[in-house]
Amino acid sequence: MQTTETKPNVKPIDCSHYINGEYLQSKDGKTFENVNPATEEVLGVVAEGGKEEVDYAVGVARKALKGEWGNMPVRERSAIIRKIGDLILERKEELATLESLDTGKPLWLSKKVDIDRAAYNFHFFADYMTTVGTEAYQQDDIALHYAIRRPVGVVGLINPWNLPLLLMTWKLAPALAAGNTVVMKPSEVTPMTATVLAQICTDAGVPAGVVNMVHGKGETGAAITSHDDVDAIAFTGETITGTAIMKAAAPTIKKLSFELGGKNPNIIFADADIDDVIDTTMRSSFINQGEVCLCGSRIYVERSIYDEFLEKFAARAKELKIGDPFDPETKVGALVSEEHYKKVLSFLEIAKEEGGTFLTGGKIPEGLDKGFFVEPTIITGLGKDSRCVREEIFGPVVTVIPFDTEEEVLEQVNDTNYGLSASLWTSDIKRATRVAAQIEAGMVWINTWFLRDLRTPFGGMKHSGLGREGGAHSFDFYSELTNITIKH
Ligand code: NAD
Repeated sequence: MQTTETKPNVKPIDCSHYINGEYLQSKDGKTFENVNPATEEVLGVVAEGGKEEVDYAVGVARKALKGEWGNMPVRERSAIIRKIGDLILERKEELATLESLDTGKPLWLSKKVDIDRAAYNFHFFADYMTTVGTEAYQQDDIALHYAIRRPVGVVGLINPWNLPLLLMTWKLAPALAAGNTVVMKPSEVTPMTATVLAQICTDAGVPAGVVNMVHGKGETGAAITSHDDVDAIAFTGETITGTAIMKAAAPTIKKLSFELGGKNPNIIFADADIDDVIDTTMRSSFINQGEVCLCGSRIYVERSIYDEFLEKFAARAKELKIGDPFDPETKVGALVSEEHYKKVLSFLEIAKEEGGTFLTGGKIPEGLDKGFFVEPTIITGLGKDSRCVREEIFGPVVTVIPFDTEEEVLEQVNDTNYGLSASLWTSDIKRATRVAAQIEAGMVWINTWFLRDLRTPFGGMKHSGLGREGGAHSFDFYSELTNITIKH
């Protein structure tokens, strides 16, 4: 049975659009239900926006680009952005509870990762924006060239369900720091924290019309990505959705930033510190139910430590407590939705058909048939062409494959269309840097995982993304440069 040691002490909310500083419903009154993935109970209703709401939001965002927001000195804008971070922390309990109700992730994780990091995104960019400069070049005695920076304009921010507030703020903070106005569309599966965030922005002093939000599903997103008057789209989600957005954005040549899917390798050489490897591999495999784009779902282990690794890894995975997100002992909560749950379960069937062995998991946990729970699953015995090794499952499911040589493992690691991140473990620094430089991924961690500095480039190559976010990279995306030349 699912145990409840602590009950959520915040009530779920119905979710309305937020346009021009006001909550409002769709003109046609359309809504859909928001479901708690841990209990399958209805949490509330969500307004479903259409073209009319998107038109209205884009119109007010365009207008707000000028006026108060457009003319605000950088230090004042920075203070408002800092305040948004402060208010997120003030409302941490409420936001973390809503995030766990919506996503099914453990409450302690919502607090530690989702909410704290969301606040830090604003604090970081509030500081960073005050240091951003441009370029100037003296061309002999002929001319001086210098660049000026201005906002891109109206930016559409479209987000997935796995880290709803964190990923929205990862886009919203730099977009505001660079002086843009936005139309956000949170995932239809996890709409609650963004709904609160919109009000927080107003409370922090963001003028009406600068931060707008339209709820809805794919069609609502498509109304934003195909809108004539939207200048740029920052999107995080599935690769296939990225393809659709690229097509929709093509006629109006929108600037695009994509953070897409991944199938990230975790490469473990025999000379690595095995205890450190196991601790981190537990997190990189199962944290957030494996629903983190950076999770290392393909694990490659040098053959001489393969058996030892499996024994220790499986023992730890079996200890993980699965269940109620509001139980402080829970390590693995519910998957986000019935649709996603069915997708993950279908991969477990595929693993069986492909001849894989479940070292742990492979099924629904006993007593947890209400809610969308899946046991942490370690699969062995699958080859490099298996669908479970090649396709993004995005759940608490990893495959483990032994290897003999550096060349062999590199070939397997790069034999994929994805290229988001990788981790590698070895005590040989020369090998570490040599292998890291050959992995086709936007981010490689050596002897660690998920360690971030917000100044560094974040993003994927190949089918895992377009462009980079973080520090100067975010500013490059959210601003336009005009080069001015003065002839001497
Ligand atoms: P998704 O692509 O299904 O949906 C993401 C968002 O796009 C949602 O808000 C959805 O409503 C919207 N959308 C759907 N169709 C659209 C369309 N045609 N036009 C415009 N918007 C549309 O992704 P998801 O299932 O919510 O999220 C899981 C995926 O996100 C995984 O593939 C994961 O790897 C990826 N992800 C990537 C990163 C990263 O940084 N690379 C981070 C988190 C998640």
